[in-house]
Amino acid sequence: MVQEVAMRLSPRDASNEDFYLSIVAAELRIHAEDISAIEVMRKSIDARQKRVIVDVKFKVYTGNDKPEARFNPIVYPDVSAAAQVVIVGAGPAGLFAALRCVELGLRPVIIERGKNVHDRKRDIAQITRRHVVDPDSNWGFGEGGAGTFSDGKLYTRSIKRGNVPKILEILVQHGASTEILVDAHPHIGTDKLPGVITNIRKTIENCGGAVHFSTCVTKILTTGNKVTGVETRDGQQFAGPVILATGHSARDVYRMLKAQGITLEAKSFAMGVRIEHPQTLIDNIQYHTDKGRGPYLPAAAYALTSQVDGRGVYSFCMCPGGFIVPAATAAEELVVNGMSPSGRNSQWANSGIVVEVRDEDLKPYAEMGELAGMAFQQHIEKLAWEQGGKTQTAPAQRMVDFVNNHHSAKLPATSYTPGIVSSDIHTWLPQAIAARLKKGFIQFGQRNKGYLTNEAVLLGVESRTSSPVRIPRDRETYQHIAFEGLFPCGEGAGYAGGIVSSAIDGENCADAVKKWI
Ligand SMILES: Cc1cc2nc3c(=O)[nH]c(=O)nc-3n(C[C@H](O)[C@H](O)[C@H](O)COP(=O)(O)OP(=O)(O)OC[C@H]3O[C@@H](n4cnc5c(N)ncnc54)[C@H](O)[C@@H]3O)c2cc1C
Repeated sequence: MVQEVAMRLSPRDASNEDFYLSIVAAELRIHAEDISAIEVMRKSIDARQKRVIVDVKFKVYTGNDKPEARFNPIVYPDVSAAAQVVIVGAGPAGLFAALRCVELGLRPVIIERGKNVHDRKRDIAQITRRHVVDPDSNWGFGEGGAGTFSDGKLYTRSIKRGNVPKILEILVQHGASTEILVDAHPHIGTDKLPGVITNIRKTIENCGGAVHFSTCVTKILTTGNKVTGVETRDGQQFAGPVILATGHSARDVYRMLKAQGITLEAKSFAMGVRIEHPQTLIDNIQYHTDKGRGPYLPAAAYALTSQVDGRGVYSFCMCPGGFIVPAATAAEELVVNGMSPSGRNSQWANSGIVVEVRDEDLKPYAEMGELAGMAFQQHIEKLAWEQGGKTQTAPAQRMVDFVNNHHSAKLPATSYTPGIVSSDIHTWLPQAIAARLKKGFIQFGQRNKGYLTNEAVLLGVESRTSSPVRIPRDRETYQHIAFEGLFPCGEGAGYAGGIVSSAIDGENCADAVKKWI
């Protein structure tokens, strides 16, 4: 027999699978020896009340019943002789588009400006050591895109756009822990992601697909209003329908499209700072204690949102037990973001806290048309870089000092390895953003006692929350509204935000190509 049972367990009981047999047997009033297997189907932490509980859903097998494989791994066919699809960008959108192409019997050819994961790591180290950003190989560009050295949070609200469980299963098939199939808020961690990404590439190559690293697309090839392929910086041409999955940081791609008369649209986005608290402080707030999270609970996360003077102020990409990283993709800019290892075991908790950017903020950049948001981002990132002494040292201010317009004479220790320097962020971040951040912080502090503290430090600038530009496409065909054969895809096209939704969009674009061919 197979039965499902939902239980509310203490963190200690939920943490040790050795306890499950006796706990489940007692709950079902059966003998432990009669249970042939137990599977955990779902796990989530409920920290709404003083006593923190872990909700666990079990599948319990008795008699001759045994669990079947959790999912059937996809068998990818040989596509070496199949019709070719050009995929620009090896981020989550491009990689999942390629895997889906293989599944559908199409041959993906990925063109990626950055390097493979292994070589990319060296360039990333140089950003911290020498403050030098390689415009083709950095935290955003290279194998796996912006998703490789990220937190690897896999939670998404985009459940209607595609098959989220399938994306998670593909990640498990390529080396991610099966825990991501169970956790309510799954994450992989920056230490594990590179291996998963490399395995995905090997699948693509083993099936006859191709991946060209250090190859930057500089032109979309067209005949009339039909896209026929791409040309690269070194003059190579690749023919086929084009899935354009270049992410939200490839500003040269937006400029290239505009110059080629390929329609773009402005898109809303947000901007702010990254805040870092000691993780114990966040644990104490979230778990309603003053003794830390103890041995059985994970580093606590939070999500905050508020309306301030008519605009949303909210937390973005919170990384418990994580690190703040330098995420610029070109020289003369400073951008911060966050990531965490699988164990989420650093002593810090960081999160973006951002404010919606509105048209009125973009007036000084109006002559840039649909690229005004991008110009605004670039301007503020340059200011942050200048404030940091024209290096990747980040301008920083203690939280209460920022709220009260005080200079921070001394800054706390931080996870941001290129270093921080005291800066009056309220003087250079646009007022529309800084003023709302201040009010937002006060509100967050009122709702979460201890959150508003000078133990927390703000680093500027968190500017790459989502794409400021959309590459408009038809809802049904996924093709650009004016150019057939061009499939704008993922976060850079303005149709996704985050690893899973970008992966889903990649799959959807591959399906659309198959229908069109
Ligand atoms: C530090 C950090 C942490 C993050 N943490 C999370 C997280 O925990 N969870 C989450 O869901 N999301 C996270 N994100 C966001 C997530 O990584 C992105 O939403 C996602 O990677 C977008 O996928 P994409 O494939 O659309 O674009 P990208 O991942 O940006 O990939 C685009 C790729 O295109 C390539 N490219 C660009 N221009 C060209 C060109 N001209 N020719 C050839 N190639 C080109 C780039 O090199 C890049 O590899 C994080 C991002 C960062 C930077």
